Amino acid sequence: MNAYLSRVLEDVKTKNANEPEFLQTVEEVLSSLEPVIEAHPEYEKCALLERIVEPERTIEFRVTWEDDNHVWHVNRGYRVQYNGALGPYKGGIRFDPSVNLSIIKFLGFEQVFKDAMTGLPIGGAKGGSDFDPRGKSDAEVMRFCQAFISELYRHIGQDIDCPAGDLGCGGREIGYMYGQYRRLVGASEFGALSGKAVCTGGSILRPEATGFGAVYYLVEALKHDGEDIKGKRIAMSGYGNVGWGIMKKAAELGAKVTYFAGPDGYIHDPEGVSTEEKLNYILEMRAKDPMHCKPYAEKFGCEFVPATKCWGVKDVDIYMPAATQNDVNLDWAKKIAESGVKYYIEVANMPTTNEALEFLKEQKHMVVAPSKAVNAGGVSVSELEMAQNAERLYWTAEEVDEKLKGIMKNIYQSSVEVAERYGLGYDLVAGANIVGFQKVADAMMAQGIF
Ligand code: GLU
Repeated sequence: MNAYLSRVLEDVKTKNANEPEFLQTVEEVLSSLEPVIEAHPEYEKCALLERIVEPERTIEFRVTWEDDNHVWHVNRGYRVQYNGALGPYKGGIRFDPSVNLSIIKFLGFEQVFKDAMTGLPIGGAKGGSDFDPRGKSDAEVMRFCQAFISELYRHIGQDIDCPAGDLGCGGREIGYMYGQYRRLVGASEFGALSGKAVCTGGSILRPEATGFGAVYYLVEALKHDGEDIKGKRIAMSGYGNVGWGIMKKAAELGAKVTYFAGPDGYIHDPEGVSTEEKLNYILEMRAKDPMHCKPYAEKFGCEFVPATKCWGVKDVDIYMPAATQNDVNLDWAKKIAESGVKYYIEVANMPTTNEALEFLKEQKHMVVAPSKAVNAGGVSVSELEMAQNAERLYWTAEEVDEKLKGIMKNIYQSSVEVAERYGLGYDLVAGANIVGFQKVADAMMAQGIF
């Protein structure tokens, strides 16, 4: 890291000492930027890095809601509008007890570069609450969502900030938030929230988009090595929308997910989660949060290994961590490297600790792809939803899918090209960071210093 990058990183560490997840992602991104910073001495004069690491705006608010027993609860809500240089702020809302400012800032920072990489006109943001939707009734979830948006509505809008879902926040929650938003502003501003159901202005394929996009990215990475996705076996973690989308698209293209891990352990299904019946079962179980793997193993007669993760299994071709942050630490990374499996394709936001990521990148036999690029299909289709809303039209599944494919291909190719241009070789992680950073930097430089 050169002197300018080190100085900015030290400054971020001092100012945000209690935010480990945020520091982790800033360090990861900055560690890729040396060649581009060296090539642009003007950035230091304009304090570009200092500005890029600081959110434009951080909103924290109280969310008060009543449960079914008429007991009142108070949660904390967040929205970090990180960088709007490329367009309206865009990014999901996470409802999970683990949510705090560090988590939302880390996700927001990642989102800035992810959204930039899509090539679409969107800035980066993230929001959420420490509310736990698990075990809540539908009416409780609705009252919480209404309370959450009754505060946030004044900060969002179709040209200002368009939140979408994330962990714990899916189509149902977005629907409740959109309804309340419409009541409060007195207008049908569909583009103020994305991830809506199709009947209320949503885009076809939005629920599948992240998983489908991840598989489209994987297809490109395999093509680079003269490989076909057909017949490939995948081990993954995660059991939400994203995991389901991966299973479905992989099955369609002749690959199969043979291992998947949940909170209780993992299953090994050598036939793959490929039949309609299995995919539907996953969909059904997903709604019963948290989904555990054991019932799947019992129903379909396959092996269940309790209380551990499937990283390190040998009889697969691809690993796809699609659960949550820091799923893979250095110990797991060592097992992954030892397994001899070539492809490590991150899907969840920051699923790998920095030391594990460094270790995996050093393995000569491995291809490591970063989540910022791989999971960008979700936010891309969110933006396509905003575009449809602005046109007051619905596009067909074929139209959306074609555009998604094109975006994922472009993300992969631009990462490869930029890494080569800077003499970094085939480095998908650095390439993605630089592509995203460069787009934001260009827009910030063009807009003057503030
Ligand atoms: N939460 C998703 C992500 O991490 C989607 C964001 C969006 O659709 O705005 O990219």
